[in-house]
Amino acid sequence: MTLLHGGTLIDGSGAPAYSGDLLFDGHSILAVGAVSASTDCPQVDCTGLVIAPGFIDVHSHSDLQVLARHRAKTDQGVTTEVVGNCGFSAYPCGTHRHEVQEFANGILFGYDRDWAWRNAQEYLAETEAQAELVTVRSLVGHGTLRVATMGLRQGPATPAELDAMEQSLAECLAGGAAGFSTGLMYAPGSTAPTEELTALCRVTARAGKVYATHMRSYGDDLLASLDEQFYLARATGCRLQISHLQAVGRRNWAKQAEALEKLEAARHEGIDVAFDSYPYLAGSTVLTQLLPAWAVDGGTAALLARLADPALCRDMKATMIEQVPQQWSDIFITAVGSTVSEHFVGSDLATIGDTLAEHPVDAIFSLLRAEQGNVNILAFNQCDENLQKLLTHPLCSVISDGFYVKGKPHPRLYGTFPFLLGEIVRERRWMSLEQAIHKITAQPAARFSMARQGLLTPGYIADITVFDPVQIASGATYAAPDTAPTGIVHCFRRGELLSGTPVLHQHGG
Ligand SMILES: [Zn+2]
Repeated sequence: MTLLHGGTLIDGSGAPAYSGDLLFDGHSILAVGAVSASTDCPQVDCTGLVIAPGFIDVHSHSDLQVLARHRAKTDQGVTTEVVGNCGFSAYPCGTHRHEVQEFANGILFGYDRDWAWRNAQEYLAETEAQAELVTVRSLVGHGTLRVATMGLRQGPATPAELDAMEQSLAECLAGGAAGFSTGLMYAPGSTAPTEELTALCRVTARAGKVYATHMRSYGDDLLASLDEQFYLARATGCRLQISHLQAVGRRNWAKQAEALEKLEAARHEGIDVAFDSYPYLAGSTVLTQLLPAWAVDGGTAALLARLADPALCRDMKATMIEQVPQQWSDIFITAVGSTVSEHFVGSDLATIGDTLAEHPVDAIFSLLRAEQGNVNILAFNQCDENLQKLLTHPLCSVISDGFYVKGKPHPRLYGTFPFLLGEIVRERRWMSLEQAIHKITAQPAARFSMARQGLLTPGYIADITVFDPVQIASGATYAAPDTAPTGIVHCFRRGELLSGTPVLHQHGG
């Protein structure tokens, strides 16, 4: 038994904070409030500290890093991560591992063991054994499911292929996967027709699980993209989570208000929809995202062949100039595959174009050629006013969307949760601490059907984060993302201390 003594309890429900203690034993919370524990029970003095449920990150791309026990999330007080987002999961892959890795473009790396999970059961068994820092829940990625079934080919699946995908998805959902995800801006999943998604959402609905989507567009076609997702939820009855909602690019900022109205109307109509957002103005993705989908059909080798063809480059360039919702100076290189273009990490595309004396799009082509297509970017997409409206919306859970890259990852990987509680809550006062905690505990736990998680309640799992509300802050910046936060004092997962000084005193002994 351990007693967390004399802290401020914020229980995750959104209810006002109150002073008290928390007693837990093994995996479970035993008592909360004014607790009288036996004198020989180890105690942790929580004077001046907040005791909250362990933070839950329902939009993570740490599918392999959790197995390698990276500490970026633990140091922020995160005790549960949902991986497999945006259509990228590490299973089912079986014999298609290399194609899956190629498709996932840099997300699925960093775990030394030779992996080839055929289904959710195999992957989750390995996380249960290896991921000692965090509880892992996982969505079945549509892109992975597709690549495992039909390779990197674009376009509609044959009836037999669709059958195979439905069966594999059903097997994974029955085997413990938390839901299904799509990444409809990433080829080849982006080329799936709505009918294919309808069939797979139906399987998800039948299993009673959640469907999370990275939609076809967050820019010019934001509203039509939302409509497609509402259609899927309406047609199949699945529970719908819009991933990392935002309106990308200045010319689309006005659409965000309408997007939120549409969401509220859909809920009113009876669709079980909510969304999540990360607390930063910049987003992060791969450079190939700026190309038209047809340019990446067939994978990297096919892309490089097209980049060697001047006529095709002219076609690509025309589309890209028309479609890019940001300014070139808003888009920064964060990581490259080799050392050839390393000096461009941290520079924006306008500057790189100037340096190379090329149009920014031609500079993109040069970079992709030099790096075999392997380049990551960070793009300033949003404005403060919109970000505030998103984060404070009652349907919004807060997520990291963090992923590891070898150069400079987005600081959200290392700082999201302390940034929310320090910068957004304490400094900008956009919401109360109780509301913010709710958005990273009970609210996401409910959306993703996590039993006995997200609240400080007797019988719940002893995932507990203790932090200093005055000190809590992210140290991660765009220039120096890999910086640990301050103010997380203790982090317990299933009752075990993962982070902080083990200051357990023997009371009276
Ligand atoms: Zn995404």
